Amino acid sequence: MTYTIKGNTGEWEVVIGLEVHAQVISNSKLFSGSATDFGAEPNSQVSFVDSAQPGMLPVVNKECLRQAIRTGLGLNAEINRYSVFDRKNYFYADLPQGYQISQLYHPIVGEGQIEIDLEDGSTRTIGIERLHLEQDAGKSIHDLDPKRSFIDLNRCGVALMEIVSRPDLRSPEEAGAYLRKLRTIFRYLGTCDGNMEEGSMRADVNVSVRKPGDEFGTRTETKNVNSIRFVMQAIESEALRQVKLVESGGEVQQETRLWDAGKGHTRPMRSKEFAHDYRYFPCPDLLPVNLPESFVDAIKSDMPELPDDKKKRFINDYGLPAYDAGVLVAERETAAFYEQVAEAAGNAKLAANWTMGDFFGALNKADIALADSPISARQLGGLIKLIADDTISGRIAKDVFEIMWETGKDAETIVEEKGLKQITDTDEIEGIIDQIIADNPAQVEKVKVNEKLLGWFVGQTMKATGGKANPGVVNKLLKDKLGL
Ligand code: ADP
Ligand code: MG
Repeated sequence: MTYTIKGNTGEWEVVIGLEVHAQVISNSKLFSGSATDFGAEPNSQVSFVDSAQPGMLPVVNKECLRQAIRTGLGLNAEINRYSVFDRKNYFYADLPQGYQISQLYHPIVGEGQIEIDLEDGSTRTIGIERLHLEQDAGKSIHDLDPKRSFIDLNRCGVALMEIVSRPDLRSPEEAGAYLRKLRTIFRYLGTCDGNMEEGSMRADVNVSVRKPGDEFGTRTETKNVNSIRFVMQAIESEALRQVKLVESGGEVQQETRLWDAGKGHTRPMRSKEFAHDYRYFPCPDLLPVNLPESFVDAIKSDMPELPDDKKKRFINDYGLPAYDAGVLVAERETAAFYEQVAEAAGNAKLAANWTMGDFFGALNKADIALADSPISARQLGGLIKLIADDTISGRIAKDVFEIMWETGKDAETIVEEKGLKQITDTDEIEGIIDQIIADNPAQVEKVKVNEKLLGWFVGQTMKATGGKANPGVVNKLLKDKLGL
């Protein structure tokens, strides 16, 4: 379904492009040996290079190049064996160099594309314009003291990947799906932890509106939005603002805006700056990066299976619906867990139902992470195996699951100890049914004119067997005996 905004003059289409800043996972910074740990004492991870002491020289961190290339491959993008670091000049209190080292004309990664997964199970391909490496700035802190501001340079010089999408996104939902997909890819690759609350992933949100079929409208850019929900809300409110503005005879100004989460709208920050305002030029302290083919090839040969490939494999090999496969591959750990469950269970579909249903439900309810689950993948698979081979019914399995969760015991042990094995022996069940029929002549007359009463007989039989009778066998025998 196409997302549009209804204005007084008809429907408007929303056009979105995202610039995502993703902090590279590396032990040290992009051009210095300082540590990158989150939450360290302020200014405890700052070298002379980071604080821009005169005469200091940056040295490229090879690991950061490697991480950018890995990410580029994960985005199905072209890897540029020749790239150049440029100086982007601007003044800011938390940027002691007076410029940020970035890549404008020759980024390390060129065009690519990723698939986003939408709620109805469909997918769309979104173009990637580029990925470049750049330094992060420090952090100004204005809320510790009424009169003074503080500066923490720990983040100064940490490597960021800026990933620029094409203006291919058309709704808040698609933007959300795009960010979730990027985060999944980062986490599979271990190149960024994707943690938006800690600021290791943030998005600049470009939005414009147009009448369907028209040229693109003028966009605004909302800076540094730090949660997926806020990105979606910012798009919605900004698009609505633009539609109202244009319909009342105004014109959208190309400008930079800020997201005000408290008020739920964007507000102007400054008029749009252009590349020429920054006086970009190649950084004279750094040579262009020339990557040997062997360096890129080594990274290529070391790539893990990516989420989309895994999803396809789950659909083809396990016969899962696209939606289920998408949910299970969203985190690498979840996918690995599921594969172990399926193997131990010997029934992939039942394994998916139980993993996504009862098991995820119990984790959510107890608010614990997969890694801390009291039930292992092998144990969950063991429980499902007992259902699949008719040892216990699905109903009894839910009770066994609860006991497993409490005690950490295997399903087999619990079923044995509590005598929960399903009764499939026809003779035994027949005896019980005969007794029920003999004891309830009035109900027998009624069920012959109203077949819905069969449920009552099923219930009595299950009660008499403590829920252990095989429901299929019970139904068949009852129908035979009651002549239905
Ligand atoms: P800049 O360098 O000035 O930020 P770019 O051309 O690199 O500009 O584009 C930045 C982002 O804006 C990209 O993600 C792109 O997809 C998006 N974008 C470009 N034009 C539009 C538009 N008309 N509406 C919405 N987004 C746009
Ligand atoms: Mg920009």
